[in-house]
Amino acid sequence: MTLLDGKRIAAEIRQELYGEVSEMKQKPSLAVILVGNNSASEVYVKGKIKACEEVGIHSYSYRLPENSTQKEVEKLVSSLIQKKEINGVLVQLPLPKALDADKILNLIPPEKDVDGFSPLNFGKVALGEKGVSACTPLGVIELLSRYNIEITGKHAVIVGRSKIVGRPLAMLLLNRDATVTICHSKTQNLKEECLRADILIAAIGRERFITADMVKNGAVVVDVGINRAEDGKLYGDVDFENIKEKAAYITPVPGGVGPMTIAMLLKNTVEAARKKQ
Ligand code: NDP
Repeated sequence: MTLLDGKRIAAEIRQELYGEVSEMKQKPSLAVILVGNNSASEVYVKGKIKACEEVGIHSYSYRLPENSTQKEVEKLVSSLIQKKEINGVLVQLPLPKALDADKILNLIPPEKDVDGFSPLNFGKVALGEKGVSACTPLGVIELLSRYNIEITGKHAVIVGRSKIVGRPLAMLLLNRDATVTICHSKTQNLKEECLRADILIAAIGRERFITADMVKNGAVVVDVGINRAEDGKLYGDVDFENIKEKAAYITPVPGGVGPMTIAMLLKNTVEAARKKQ
């Protein structure tokens, strides 16, 4: 088994981006909005801001209270997207339940949508055209490609069909000539579907849900899940300990897809700034 070391690859990418940014006359900039008190979101936002600093991206951080109204959040997003000096605007998800997240995200114009969540960017990616890809799916593809893992002609099975992971990842894999199966909570015979995977990707949000009997010998296993268990530890959606010897390649949690997601956010931000310049 080879470990797909997202932490190491993400550090390499940050180093490359640092080189690129240091040659840019105007440094890229990213605005990050955090609404409410979700403790996991606070950690993610801190991580994103720290990573921006490391590569020389200016970051502006905005914090709104949990009970913010739709209008208040929309007003902040609308004012930030108009600022010429800001290349990317990111609204940390999940938003408090009372808010309409889609309506807020849709305010961000495609050129400043560094998270790649806008319908236009998703549509472009789905059509195989150049658009900003969502960061987690892009991070998965980048990780596979840095380990020279062949995608063309392989059978990729994704468990999870969310707008931010499963669906866009399916499009990226299809664009790279994989045969793609998308599974979800209504899928029948999930085990059999997973067993057919050359590349198995879990994006479910259920701790150690994918067990060894669901994985083909020699498969590439990518674990997107991040779950805080009752013992206080972080676990993925994949039963890593029991699958690691069966898989040819496997991502750890933490240290796999998570750092790659942030690295791709930086990449999308640098790209947005470059396009504008
Ligand atoms: P969502 O809750 O939006 O989607 C989960 C998906 O899993 C849904 O499509 C759901 O199916 C499917 N699912 C749920 N239960 C089952 C089941 N029993 N069998 C088969 N499919 C099932 O989650 P996200 O995509 O937002 O996140 C998934 C995980 O990835 C989470 O742990 C999250 O924390 C993590 N994550 C990690 C990131 C990173 O950077 N590493 C970034 C984003 C997310 P259905 O559609 O039918 O409900």
